[in-house]
Amino acid sequence: MDTQQNNQMFEGNWKCSGCGAAITKLPFQPDPAREGELLCIDCHRSKREQTQKDRPMFEGNWTCSRCGGQITKLPFDPDPTRLDGLVCRDCFKK
Ligand SMILES: [Zn+2]
Ligand SMILES: [Zn+2]
Repeated sequence: MDTQQNNQMFEGNWKCSGCGAAITKLPFQPDPAREGELLCIDCHRSKREQTQKDRPMFEGNWTCSRCGGQITKLPFDPDPTRLDGLVCRDCFKK
């Protein structure tokens, strides 16, 4: 029951695989087999920001309202009531 409030830090002597900085504390006990993949807090944060930039694409089968072309991926989940306003990426750029 109390595991969620457990903020125990594990101390050790590891190395960040991103910038090479020393890591002395981790919020988890690292798997010895994966110590080469450890990241310091800074690298961990910038990596997370990067993955947030790669926005998820929604896959489906829609039709472009301008050229009639097929749209299979969108950077957003389209509103089903407004599907006839969708344009493909090419038309969107124009
Ligand atoms: Zn680092
Ligand atoms: Zn189009």
